[in-house]
Amino acid sequence: MARYTDAVCKLCRREGEKLFLKGERCFGPKCAIERRAYPPGMHGQQNNFRRKTSDFGLQLREKQKARRIYGVLERQFRKYFEDAQRSPGLTGENLLRTLELRLDNVVYRLGFADSRAQARQLVNHGHVHVNGRRLDIPSALVSEGDIITVSDSSRNKTYFSDLAEMIGSRSVPSWLSLDVDKLSGRVNMLPQRGEIETTVNEQLIVEYYSR
Ligand code: SF4
Repeated sequence: MARYTDAVCKLCRREGEKLFLKGERCFGPKCAIERRAYPPGMHGQQNNFRRKTSDFGLQLREKQKARRIYGVLERQFRKYFEDAQRSPGLTGENLLRTLELRLDNVVYRLGFADSRAQARQLVNHGHVHVNGRRLDIPSALVSEGDIITVSDSSRNKTYFSDLAEMIGSRSVPSWLSLDVDKLSGRVNMLPQRGEIETTVNEQLIVEYYSR
């Protein structure tokens, strides 16, 4: 599946906030937002983030921000929105729930990867099993009760043996549970809005697509 391959720090600079796309680097002094707090491009320094923005501009930016956080391209994102609209309940919440249930996001939330991009790579390379079977599609949606594990053959790799030592200190959202010894996680329930940790204002995205 197609994915964004250009420099990711400029996406944060464009949105004017940290989107945490690069793992550990995002927490250190090398973070581009810390060093160049203005939008990318030739005229970025004249376009500071405080510039007045129209309602449409705000809605567009929020949609772009969500896409960038979850690493989803426009076509797929719109499809998620249309599915969310057809489902019972609040469209914005349905949309966020779908994004959270993507396999790459769950692998990231369980702490198996530092970023969603890294999680996507782990899934692509076949290191992740769902309910005992290899699943190498990052956009696959997990369901309540699914068990996500690191494959037996991958567990001996240095990355995962190092991870096993560190992962205990990471916290996972309440809708997931983590078994550190088995490098395995479970989807306890579908996430409710209050359990989804994000700065995205989903209402603006609903307004964007409802124009
Ligand atoms: Fe964004 Fe992380 Fe790059 Fe900072 S280091 S600009 S938070 S991707």
